[in-house]
Amino acid sequence: MSAARGSLLGIEHLEAAEILKILKFARRMNPDKPRPLLKGKRVVLLFYEASTRTRSSFELAAKVLGAHTVLIQAAGSSIEKGESLLDTGYTLRAVGADVIVIRHPSAGAPHVMARHIDIPVINAGDGLHEHPSQALLDAYTILRSKKSFKGLQVAIIGDIFHSRVARSACHLLSKVGVKVILCGPPELVPEIASTLAPGVRVTRHVEDALRGTDVVMLLRVQKERLAGQKINLPDYIARYQMTAARLKTAKRDAIVMHPGPIIRGLELTSEVADGVQARILEEVRNGVPTRMAILARAVGKMR
Ligand code: ASP
Repeated sequence: MSAARGSLLGIEHLEAAEILKILKFARRMNPDKPRPLLKGKRVVLLFYEASTRTRSSFELAAKVLGAHTVLIQAAGSSIEKGESLLDTGYTLRAVGADVIVIRHPSAGAPHVMARHIDIPVINAGDGLHEHPSQALLDAYTILRSKKSFKGLQVAIIGDIFHSRVARSACHLLSKVGVKVILCGPPELVPEIASTLAPGVRVTRHVEDALRGTDVVMLLRVQKERLAGQKINLPDYIARYQMTAARLKTAKRDAIVMHPGPIIRGLELTSEVADGVQARILEEVRNGVPTRMAILARAVGKMR
């Protein structure tokens, strides 16, 4: 069985036209104005991993659209008793779920679910693979500041290797013609990362990444995923931490983004996190209209 229409499993296989359509529809969504596009529908939020922003904004988005939401977290559910992913999916279908939003530590888990269950599945982050709704809300945020993708350069700095955010962002930005520069030490940004999508380049030097850049996207060092790999954090901070002085190398009107959670004093200083160029909280806010559009699309109401 192929994934149900309206599923959003990743950005890699989404056409640029579809991406732009979702972004355009998101612009019409207003979190302060309830719209009954999902009236009476049941949206299940199935979270096998921690989440603050993604979970709360999917929940708010579903509620503004009139849906009922059910949150299931691995702890406290039958998942703890060893129930398989698919049996959990069949169970949720049996209780009448209309859409499943899933976050899972294994890459491909949402795809497996989507192949076996006849309702739309939305990937809210699968292992090191993709985080499509984050890429869409980031693109939405870029468009609000920069008006168009034309001629833009985005520098993504930090732990690219463990970042599903970076993977989805590279696919999306490359599809809409944006130049992407990935920057960090070889342990976190392997050379092969330049093959992620057309037009992606790798550099080890933060000044090189920042020169001429319109958008500076910072990523957290995902210590929980390092699995024994040692990262010299003082060295990382000395070479890659975004400080106000470093940020001056980027374009004067460059914006600073970060998917969160931010670790002040590691990948960025408080001065940058709270500075006028930061769009970090705006990204969180933009998560709601973007996820409203994704949910409306899931039930065939994105028109
Ligand atoms: N919140 C993002 C994610 O779920 C990034 C991060 O955790 O650092 O992938």
